[in-house]
Amino acid sequence: MKKKLELLEQLQEADKGIDEQLAAQNGHRTAISRLQEELTALQQALAERQEEMAALQQEKSALEVALQTELDNIRRSETNMKEIRTNKEFQAVGREIATARKQVADIEEQLLQLVSRIDELQTGLDSLLCDCNECETSTTQGAAEMQQAIDSLQKSIDSAVSGREAIAKSLGGNLVRRYTQLREQRRGQALAEASDGSCSGCNMQLPPQLYNMLFRGEEIFFCPHCQRILILKQGQPS
Ligand SMILES: [Zn+2]
Repeated sequence: MKKKLELLEQLQEADKGIDEQLAAQNGHRTAISRLQEELTALQQALAERQEEMAALQQEKSALEVALQTELDNIRRSETNMKEIRTNKEFQAVGREIATARKQVADIEEQLLQLVSRIDELQTGLDSLLCDCNECETSTTQGAAEMQQAIDSLQKSIDSAVSGREAIAKSLGGNLVRRYTQLREQRRGQALAEASDGSCSGCNMQLPPQLYNMLFRGEEIFFCPHCQRILILKQGQPS
């Protein structure tokens, strides 16, 4: 029985190690997702700015077309003026030209403001693009490193699992089933040390008779309170 208890302890130790390594793997996976989320957020911000820029450029092109139209109108009116005979017509064309010149001034003012907004946005875009590229590099590198860590943990987990299987095999099905069930019910702790007359798993007092039998180590005993498999780690009770 002592041998079995030792094996059970080894099994619990192995399972604890496997759990820890699985948790470490999950930690790395979460970190990879976080890196990728950061990158996606930056890429999204970049795409939004690029869209904004495209809209401003479109607005600029439209204003440039309107400007050209007004300039053409002015030139046409000025050409027409040479053929005008009456004063009335002359005044009418003069008013047209004045209106067109006012339009030109307005459009030029709008263009100036637009160009300054475009310049400002371009500066923001440049730095965002830079951030994005940096983030992409660090994400790729970080994710690769963490994937490597995940892979190496997996190798270690695989070998721990086969070691665990070997222990489980020599323990026999019934005991392993009981152990597995207890581990699930007792947050990973199927075994509990018995010390100072009580179970370290649930801190409840153990019957003195059970404690004495435990000391003989001839059988496997379970804590009557939490049902964990009891292990004796100290000398005979006084
Ligand atoms: Zn207990």
